[in-house]
Amino acid sequence: ATVLAIETSCDETSCAIVRDRTVLSNIVSSQIATHQAYGGVVPEMASRQHVETVNWAIEQAIQQSGLTWADIDGIAATCAPGLIGALLVGLTVGKTLAMLYQKPFLGIHHLEGHIYASYLSEPSLEPPFLCLLVSGGHTSLIHVKDCGHYETLGQTRDDAAGEAFDKVARLLDLGYPGGPVIDRLAKAGNSQAFPLPEGQISLPQGGFHRYDSSFSGLKTAVLRLTQSLKPQGALPVADLAASFQDTVARALTKRTIACALDYGIETIAVGGGVAANSGLRQKLQMAAAQYNLRVLFPPLTYCTDNAAMIACAAADHLNRGHVSPLTIGAQSRMPIGDVMQLYAESSC
Ligand code: ATP
Ligand code: MG
Ligand code: FE
Repeated sequence: ATVLAIETSCDETSCAIVRDRTVLSNIVSSQIATHQAYGGVVPEMASRQHVETVNWAIEQAIQQSGLTWADIDGIAATCAPGLIGALLVGLTVGKTLAMLYQKPFLGIHHLEGHIYASYLSEPSLEPPFLCLLVSGGHTSLIHVKDCGHYETLGQTRDDAAGEAFDKVARLLDLGYPGGPVIDRLAKAGNSQAFPLPEGQISLPQGGFHRYDSSFSGLKTAVLRLTQSLKPQGALPVADLAASFQDTVARALTKRTIACALDYGIETIAVGGGVAANSGLRQKLQMAAAQYNLRVLFPPLTYCTDNAAMIACAAADHLNRGHVSPLTIGAQSRMPIGDVMQLYAESSC
């Protein structure tokens, strides 16, 4: 199926047209410059900017695809989870277009979109596989069983991995977003300079949770370290960045590999903005090779928020006859295991 999708869950306004697993156009307008001055995404400003940009993004997506509305089989929009006001912009526009052009409409779960980024870069990929989703708001190990059928096997108990990068960058005065800066600085630093806590989750019966993670203790450890180092002069920022990044990469790699081996899953697909991290890529690739596992890292354009991944998920659902009622609303939170609640079987 050929689907036009709109993504406005956070700070990217995006519209894309995808035919099954082939991207025909993917327009992404990032609001980073707007939010940078505030050190993070300001929800009300995000919604306003989506309103200002979304029509342009749709026109561009249509134009670049070379298609007309008659060629579009369905219209989709991210409906959960995310910033509620931001989600409402794309969802309302998507439903309106569906009514206007009389096309089936699909609400898409944002994390299912992040999973589908892997199909865009590797069209031969088929479930089952394990998705390590590491973004600004999520750190999850998701067992991908089939279209619409997911089980979360592990997740963070506090901060998401990307959030940890952003918070540590903030306390090192490196600006927002923190991931890319820390990644760059880490290359010049010594990752063994400062031993930092990996953040393990203790189990009541003793031992540690094999798949869940925690990054708030690590962030606090970096804070304490900077407080104790500051009186001694300029902070060894590169060494701090390298030590922090190495600890995050080690924690994620350990859990992902343990999960894949325990469940007998041979393919690992990584998604979300933190998939760009060079430390994570290196560690996970090495460990995967050691255990004969396949690991896929989609290109960065599909790792960070984009509508192409949303359209790809929608095309798969539409091919199976899944369609959302137009009464569907936006939800700021929604477990990925509930995805099928967004659809009613339909014959159109
Ligand atoms: P969610 O999907 O959970 O709602 P999001 O879509 O806003 O969150 P993404 O756009 O996927 O998140 O990713 C943004 C995050 O990725 C930011 O926290 C940013 O710091 C981080 N990031 C980007 N590049 C890198 C990098 N090279 N290393 C580490 N982190 C990175
Ligand atoms: Mg973003
Ligand atoms: Fe996202």
